[in-house]
Amino acid sequence: MSKYIIGIDAGTTGIRAIAFDHDSNILSNAYSEFTQYFPEPGWVEHDADEIFDVTMAMIKQCVEEGNLSFDDLVAIGITNQRETTVLWDKNTGKSVCRSIVWQDMRTADRVSAYNEKYGDKYYGKTGSSALTNSTGPKIEWIMANNAEVKAGIEAGNILYGWIDTWLIWKLSGGKAHVTDFTNLAGTLMGDITILDYCDDMLKEFGIPREILPTPYVTGGFSVDTDPEVFFGHVVPIAASSGDQTASAVGQACIKPGMVKNTYGTGSFMVLNVGTELNADIPIESGLFLETANDIGEQHYALEGFANVSGSAIQWLRDGAGVCTNAKEAEELANSVEDNGGVYFVPAFAGLPNGSDPYARGTIIGITRGTTKAHLCRAAIEAMAYQVAESFEAMAAYGGVELTAVRADGGGAKNDFLCQFQADILGVPVERPVITETTCLGVAYLAGVNVGFWKDMDEVAEKWQCEKRFEPRLSEEERKKLMAGWKNAVKHASGWLKGF
Ligand code: ADP
Repeated sequence: MSKYIIGIDAGTTGIRAIAFDHDSNILSNAYSEFTQYFPEPGWVEHDADEIFDVTMAMIKQCVEEGNLSFDDLVAIGITNQRETTVLWDKNTGKSVCRSIVWQDMRTADRVSAYNEKYGDKYYGKTGSSALTNSTGPKIEWIMANNAEVKAGIEAGNILYGWIDTWLIWKLSGGKAHVTDFTNLAGTLMGDITILDYCDDMLKEFGIPREILPTPYVTGGFSVDTDPEVFFGHVVPIAASSGDQTASAVGQACIKPGMVKNTYGTGSFMVLNVGTELNADIPIESGLFLETANDIGEQHYALEGFANVSGSAIQWLRDGAGVCTNAKEAEELANSVEDNGGVYFVPAFAGLPNGSDPYARGTIIGITRGTTKAHLCRAAIEAMAYQVAESFEAMAAYGGVELTAVRADGGGAKNDFLCQFQADILGVPVERPVITETTCLGVAYLAGVNVGFWKDMDEVAEKWQCEKRFEPRLSEEERKKLMAGWKNAVKHASGWLKGF
């Protein structure tokens, strides 16, 4: 039997475990969702014990259904939803409260107060403004609202971690309390200039350093599984990573100027900027400053995101009832020659990156001739315009030339979207053969770290293009469409403040 690596993607809605052989062939693929809790409007919670149980079940299923043997498992890599909190009792090994998920909005007021107080003072260190996604305010909230957890922390019984930390701690039988810096970046707790925690931020949110995992850069640790926990086997857990930078590795974006975008529920774009990070990027760029996962030379990355991307298509289907599935939305979009002047700003919960929490979803430019096909087209085009805004900021501040975008995620199946994306960016969009880029990326990192693959260049060479979309619009048409989008965004902005 051939040797293999398992990449685990502990995502927001489910856990995926994929076994890859040396040629990056998928040998087996297991997936299961887990429970989402919505205790109050705007709140989203997970049960970390369930996440661990489902992870174990998916590893087992992946090995069994692929007729694989644990003896051939060379290493494990774990990538995960970022910013979600886990607090657990180190004596019982059980979580002590529900995890607050990155999507949870309960810290909205605290986040606004932080931004008003500090503005861009810490942006060059923390790498982002305060967002409801940010972990620091979430931990503060738990300590302020759960006396038992606070007492447990003070008594020294409780540890904190992100999902990677939690899974590694459990799998190692409590021996390792670690994280990868790609998970710390963007939490409002890390300092990208020293690749460690930011003391001022820990003080701001009252978080004791003793409960926090040791942050490593990618490839900085390899931890053995405890055979009593891990099906009787000792296997190195040789990498962990935040999901978006892992998928950038799966897309082989390991050189400066290479950029990927994932079109899922939200949209996440990551640009590798090389070994230097431009210190003059303004906070208004809306970009996250973070590390890229590179074993060898430390690279940095810029990230742009939009909370609503493919979920706008889900809304068209479920909320507005204008189509029965995403495929039909694509067909309808293709059935009209252009957007008919219609723009759809899917600011369901404000504009991306917390830039305007008072904005709301807006469809504008409707005439008597507008049809549901135009609405579908406008929603899909919006997925591309949002990426174009991140792209513009990256081109302005990344210090590198952006020559193509590699696309993945559920929306990347949509040829119309990929073509329009290329058109509006003016650079080609490339879709890879393997679209499970997140699991693949972290499998590559674990494999390189244990010597299964030689180095990052070797794995990058395995990337294959399934389809390349060349830009077709003139500069003038591109500018006109983009100006229309920006005007539409202006109309969506500040909506809730207007009355
Ligand atoms: P996530 O990992 O965020 O759950 P996925 O990568 O599984 O997301 O993609 C699911 C999202 O992609 C959904 O929001 C869905 O509406 C969107 N999607 C799926 N197919 C298409 C398509 N053909 N065109 C546009 N969006 C699509």
